[in-house]
Amino acid sequence: MKRAIYPGSFDPMTFGHIDMIERSSKIVDELVVGVLNNSAKNSLFSLDERVSMIKEMTSSIPNVTVASFDGLLVDYMKEIDATIIVRGLRAVTDFEYELQIAQTNHVENPDVETIFLTTNLKYSYLSSSVVREFASYGGDISKFVPEQFIERIYAKYNIIK
Ligand code: ADP
Repeated sequence: MKRAIYPGSFDPMTFGHIDMIERSSKIVDELVVGVLNNSAKNSLFSLDERVSMIKEMTSSIPNVTVASFDGLLVDYMKEIDATIIVRGLRAVTDFEYELQIAQTNHVENPDVETIFLTTNLKYSYLSSSVVREFASYGGDISKFVPEQFIERIYAKYNIIK
């Protein structure tokens, strides 16, 4: 059984993340969306909020579960018996960093493989930080995130629409 993890901050989850989850869940037997509890990063949404937003959007996909983790990804993967890391590649700029991390993880645990899916062209420009930036100025984020998240995102910036 091939259990994979799709790790990230998901702050907030975007259409790009959803596309990645839908596509990668068809390749592996089980996909765990791993929400990173990074205390060094000041996140817009709490860990619990991010986990429940992802659950809302993935509950209909039977082989996808959502969990949070902190510490080293390879250590968490041992805990849950996962051997595959799924990451998205948007542009050349992602590549250098992703390659370095993938190779480091493989050195840490040779059983761990990273697979990369190229971004759906529709979402290649999209990142959580772009969503946060636009939302903070009251910009239109309806093309970036599911409708049910929009109010919650604006509320973080005290914007009522
Ligand atoms: P991180 O904080 O590690 O960058 P993110 O939550 O931003 O985590 O992203 C998690 C994963 O989703 C990464 O592999 C990233 O490349 C991928 N990703 C982010 N945005 C998109 C997108 N628009 N299309 C496809 N993959 C994406």
